[in-house]
Amino acid sequence: MMTGNGDTPGLDAIFRRLISATGPITVAHYMAEANAHYYGKREALGATGDFITAPEISQMFGEMVGIWLADQVLRAGKPSPCHYVELGPGRGTLARDALRAMAQFGLSPQVHLIEGSERLRHIQRERVPEARWHDALDSVPREGPLLVVANEFLDALPVRQLVATDQGWRERVVVHNGERFMPVAGARPMDNAVRAELCTSPPGTILETCSAASGYAFEIATRLKAQGGTALFIDYGYTAPQTGSTLQAVRDHQQVDPFADPGECDLSALVDFAQLKQIALAADVDCLGPVAQGDWLMALGIGARAAALAKSDPAQAGALDVALDRLVAPEQMGALFKVIAYRGPGWPQGEGFGG
Ligand code: SAH
Repeated sequence: MMTGNGDTPGLDAIFRRLISATGPITVAHYMAEANAHYYGKREALGATGDFITAPEISQMFGEMVGIWLADQVLRAGKPSPCHYVELGPGRGTLARDALRAMAQFGLSPQVHLIEGSERLRHIQRERVPEARWHDALDSVPREGPLLVVANEFLDALPVRQLVATDQGWRERVVVHNGERFMPVAGARPMDNAVRAELCTSPPGTILETCSAASGYAFEIATRLKAQGGTALFIDYGYTAPQTGSTLQAVRDHQQVDPFADPGECDLSALVDFAQLKQIALAADVDCLGPVAQGDWLMALGIGARAAALAKSDPAQAGALDVALDRLVAPEQMGALFKVIAYRGPGWPQGEGFGG
């Protein structure tokens, strides 16, 4: 069992004490605390971390994001000031690569990074020293268009799970059975939280929602409506409403039990892109996509970029091929990962979304 260093109790012990003192905690509470602990402490990202993300695979990913944003800004008439706002920037790699690509078009937006982990803020500072850091969107300037980017951010936010039982819908909560944490149906009736058509779902059906992701998406849409700009959300997820738990845990590049060793593995859940679309509609901003990440990157010219990089450094040609394949091949990240964009009033139709 994981414990903390010296006198500090580990999250495992804190959760056990909390549960025995006050009763089960919700899956959402478990996930939120576990991830806050995890990103504050562990080497999460990169080849030597627990998992690898698109910007950590190749500089080409961030460059495509930068080129997409540059195209938007130039076609919007190069408004100034303009703010690059990234949510959950990880090691700062995407921001560095995207901003470098934008600079080639003569664009240098102000940089705002929203990051919860002090540890990652330090790493980000090395890559993007000019950035300003924020805990949330509230302190990001309200004047000038926003260029919002979120890659694998929404999937890290806590999901709430409801489960159908013989007695009706219940919130899924976490207990400790003396040996391990495990999810069970909570005591309180939750039928009112479920859409009417799901009321007759068979016992065991799980309904997952992410109010934190919806909250961010709605706040961003509202900001774009008020101050202009555009937002790109890139993540893995599904495009039509579905049921079932998608909570997963990764440690050392392997899937592990999400309820073993809280705070020591990365917890994530698939993003509900149907919901992101719905939110744009409700906030009255245009929504482009979702489209598959592979199609989007290819439409933006990542193939040509890979060829150019290989030409200037032939020794890297093989590695570039592998990286390109990981990013765009449907059986790798190309199909499961999706891209959706919001655009403020009057902002151009973004490249790579068809139409
Ligand atoms: N975008 C990066 C990192 C993805 S990992 C990449 O693609 O490589 C998730 C990131 O979101 C980390 O930087 C993590 O610290 C941050 N994060 C997770 N939950 C957060 C929260 N509630 N508020 C702010 N940042 C959060």
